[in-house]
Amino acid sequence: MTAGKKAAVIRGDGIGPEVVDSMLRVLKACNSQIEIVMCEGGSEQWERNGRRDASFIPDATMKALEECDACFKGPTTTITDPKAPRSVAVTLRQKFNLYTNVRPIRTYRRITPDKNLDFVCLREATEGLYAGIEMQITDDVAIAIRKITRQGSRRFANATMKWAKDHGLKKVVAITKRNILKTTDGLFLDEFLQAGKAAGIEIEEIYIDNMMQQLVVRPEQFNGTALASTNLFMDIVSELAAGVTGSVGLMYSSNMGDNYAMFEAAHGSAPTIKGQNKANPTATVLAGAWMAGYLGERHIQDAIFSATEQVIEDGRVVTFDIGGSASTAQMTDAIIEQAKAKLRK
Ligand code: ATP
Repeated sequence: MTAGKKAAVIRGDGIGPEVVDSMLRVLKACNSQIEIVMCEGGSEQWERNGRRDASFIPDATMKALEECDACFKGPTTTITDPKAPRSVAVTLRQKFNLYTNVRPIRTYRRITPDKNLDFVCLREATEGLYAGIEMQITDDVAIAIRKITRQGSRRFANATMKWAKDHGLKKVVAITKRNILKTTDGLFLDEFLQAGKAAGIEIEEIYIDNMMQQLVVRPEQFNGTALASTNLFMDIVSELAAGVTGSVGLMYSSNMGDNYAMFEAAHGSAPTIKGQNKANPTATVLAGAWMAGYLGERHIQDAIFSATEQVIEDGRVVTFDIGGSASTAQMTDAIIEQAKAKLRK
């Protein structure tokens, strides 16, 4: 069980502190036994500290993260200035070898009555164009390297097959642009074909451009499958898929390694609605519930998922982005009430 399990939590920037506090309130109300270690991180604290640090993650936070069994990252703002530090998420994925980003895509009847989606987006999260290898060759020429390794593709392909098997999925859709990126995507697909053969799972290859069209025109065709791709392609695919579900405020994700994981909302720090107590807490609450399950509190994860679905489908106490007028705190309270009732049963 969870006795002794520790999770480091970064509240983050923008709406981060509001939605992370919601998530912590829900876990506490559900009597989670996970020890929470609060840490600083993100661009706001970096600005407050005089923009001196080379990272958005202070050393003390990195140490705390290393000492915990998992971590939760609230949304953080990444500053585009090339001299500013790298994104918190990208840094943590590489530091802890969290090579599989998982983003479940599902719809709610009340929000999108015309769509019924249930599939998962899996993204290789340490390589590709996000490997962070960029160079200014001359004043007028800059390049970025799209790094694809056999070892990186293999471990990601194997993790994808494991997810598919564990969740009873019939097919994995590998998204590439192999007709153009013949060498890099050729290597990536090769590993998927081999992993699929070994696992007995069908692999279908779809090119990224066609994939975007299919997701808009007929996304239901992907129900019951796992979509898998390299870092940049899947960042975009999963964002589009999230858009189809109605609000980014609903999308949660995890970043899985072999023995560590980071949980987060899939949306950003939404600075324009910061501090207004109106952000949708769903993504953060569900990511936190998933973390509880990962650390051994599966009953709490199930209760929170079921409670959140009930609150969203009921529609009376939901935030503005999904058709309501409730505040972040009110929607959180509604989830807590339902989750506690479920845990009492
Ligand atoms: P990033 O680059 O960090 O992903 P972004 O500005 O591209 O940030 P978001 O911060 O996710 O993207 O914001 C996209 C839109 O979704 C904005 O209009 C924002 O207000 C809205 N949004 C994001 N999160 C929520 C939320 N939890 N509840 C309601 N609206 C949200």
